Amino acid sequence: MTKRIFFTLSMFLMLINPASAEVNIVATLPWIGSIVKEIGVDKVNITALVKPNQDPHFIEAKPSMILLASKADILMYNGLDLEVGYLPLIINSSRNSRIQLGRKGNFDCSRYIAPIERHQGDIDRSMGDVHPFGNPHYHLSPKNILNVAEGITQTLSDIDSDNGEFYKANFVSFKERLMERQKKWGDSLGGKKFIAFHRYFEYLAEELGFQIVGYIESMPGIPPSSAHIERLIGEINRIKPDGLLTTAYYGKRETAFLSQKTGVKVIVVPHDVGCREDVKDWFTLMDKVIESLK
Ligand SMILES: [Zn+2]
Repeated sequence: MTKRIFFTLSMFLMLINPASAEVNIVATLPWIGSIVKEIGVDKVNITALVKPNQDPHFIEAKPSMILLASKADILMYNGLDLEVGYLPLIINSSRNSRIQLGRKGNFDCSRYIAPIERHQGDIDRSMGDVHPFGNPHYHLSPKNILNVAEGITQTLSDIDSDNGEFYKANFVSFKERLMERQKKWGDSLGGKKFIAFHRYFEYLAEELGFQIVGYIESMPGIPPSSAHIERLIGEINRIKPDGLLTTAYYGKRETAFLSQKTGVKVIVVPHDVGCREDVKDWFTLMDKVIESLK
């Protein structure tokens, strides 16, 4: 009987205090949530602000996002200005001191990567939607993601030191799986040439040894003019690339038109975790990206 009362009592305590031990994390993009999950497993509670079917360049701040941010222990974001259109407003309006710039709970994933395509000198709107601090689409780069995961591990261990060893062990396991998977991803794309809609695949191209030889956008974030499309038809016929790369939210019409004119296939590459039913986490995202390119 006493045993039973004791059991009931402990169940009750668990129920009234179910999530207090979890670190509450708000991530902007689904892939960030996926990496945090790898390291934090059941010690973290993760919400992503951006849906996997949204274009991450064009997100608007919503009251629901501010509410989520106001309760976050850590806000994790892509950085390199990808969220510049909505995140400063969310951080400001959240009145959450933990996630303000310079605090431990303000986690810019790009601090852990080596950016490519940094712009020197003046930038103006005539150059399109240029990211001055470098290409922000590094999430398909195993090399950089490993560093981001290490940074996440460090920050989780600092904020929730009781579980520091747990996070570190999960990072070791993450690293092992990443190394193992990289053997499979390999370099079978070496020598392949693609034309892409947006500057989205540059990090991966560098790591896997394929080339992006042209862009369908006339400038970053600027849809192609008909003159640019005309020029591209000539270029595609001359270069004969292995495919025209796009993601679900970019230039469907333009890529379909170019494909019809040149006979080169359109490859719709999955862009983030959850954008398709079979893309469940960052590892399967990478699997499917590479599969689609092959
Ligand atoms: Zn972009």
